[in-house]
Amino acid sequence: MAHHATPELLLDYASGALPAAPAMAIASHMALCPEVSADYTALNRLGGAMLETLEDATPIEAREMAAMLARLDEPAPIAAPTPADPRATLPRPLQSLIGQPLDTLRWRRVAPGVREHKLPLDDGRHKAVLLLIAPGQAVPRHSHRGQELTLVLEGGYRDGDLDFARGDLQVADDTVDHRPVADPHEGCICLVVLDAPIRFTGPWARWINGLVRY
Ligand code: ZN
Repeated sequence: MAHHATPELLLDYASGALPAAPAMAIASHMALCPEVSADYTALNRLGGAMLETLEDATPIEAREMAAMLARLDEPAPIAAPTPADPRATLPRPLQSLIGQPLDTLRWRRVAPGVREHKLPLDDGRHKAVLLLIAPGQAVPRHSHRGQELTLVLEGGYRDGDLDFARGDLQVADDTVDHRPVADPHEGCICLVVLDAPIRFTGPWARWINGLVRY
């Protein structure tokens, strides 16, 4: 599960409870990852089945529940939401938002070898950016004051023992202190959604924390 959206995020997305920025991360993740897309379809079916059972005013029997849960493991016949064009760098939801090729965007340098492009998804709380990280470049060591969603769009990165590739989503919070390193050959382009500023924890932490804009 380290590379996929949590069930909580999928449920919040399904119910419309996610604000625009994290919803964009989840929709784009599903557009690139058939496995999560299938989980999402199964969750929706489970939700529908539970509602029908409640409407019938019949108590949910344990074995019915077990059968419904077992169905979660079955491959879903319908794909949710839009399947990605494997040739395109951007999944459809992001493509519609940005509406222009990545190489025509304006990028701002935020650290050595790291550039960002801020996305127009402000809801007063979240920050959503595309990050362009040079091959082999490390993002300065940091922890989080809230939740960080990182979706790989191109290339990939390594975080400790884990490798993240196109379509993978990493969910990090205040328990995670990390220094992701971009793929040594391809670098990495990713979508990052934060609900609070990150906290730098490396040797220059005090200095960098004072400088970086959220
Ligand atoms: Zn992080």
